Amino acid sequence: MAKHILIIEDETAIAELEKDYLELSDFEVETAADGESGLEKAMSMDFDLVILDLMLPGIDGFEVCRRIREAKNIPILMVSARKDDIDKIRGLGLGADDYMTKPFSPSELVARVKAHMARYERLVGAGQPANDVIEIRGLKIDKTARRVFIDGTEKNFTTKEFDLLTFLAEHPNHVYSKEELFREIWDMDSIGDIATVTVHIKKIREKIEYDTSNPQYIETIWGVGYRFRI
Ligand code: CA
Repeated sequence: MAKHILIIEDETAIAELEKDYLELSDFEVETAADGESGLEKAMSMDFDLVILDLMLPGIDGFEVCRRIREAKNIPILMVSARKDDIDKIRGLGLGADDYMTKPFSPSELVARVKAHMARYERLVGAGQPANDVIEIRGLKIDKTARRVFIDGTEKNFTTKEFDLLTFLAEHPNHVYSKEELFREIWDMDSIGDIATVTVHIKKIREKIEYDTSNPQYIETIWGVGYRFRI
């Protein structure tokens, strides 16, 4: 299966050049031209490696790197036009795997990409089969272990809370009514009604949201139901 690479780079000519060379080596490549859209793609799609430019409009490469690293265990290759910046990033310990100073030769880029992918594969391959995990921003749902973490801190979930959160997270951007959620998570003959759904959503929000009055994961769609945001 082809490996997926995300290039976050605001200079279109450079992004295109990198993309061309990587595609010639049979990688599938997505590009993003600013930090915001780059982060969005990195969080919502599965990539095997990210090539991240440091100086980006909006959210800069430092912040993008930090946020990807919080949520994803994939190699991050940072590039910058300035050697000073590279030294600075190393010093910050943001968790990037490698650093390259522009301009670099495309073949060097391809070689480094391949080396990092091979290294990660060895790491992953050495362990047990990976757990089935959903990761969205700071939220991590380990379906195999039935555990939920926010920014690395575990939160205790009841069975139904876990089932409800997982169901919503597995169907992002889809609005479900309370009736649909009740049917989905609770047995037809279970005691309770759609108010149960409201109570559970409230409990889940208290555990996963930074600000329950302004939820970033489970949105209320007034008069309709709930939607999981990615
Ligand atoms: Ca740039």
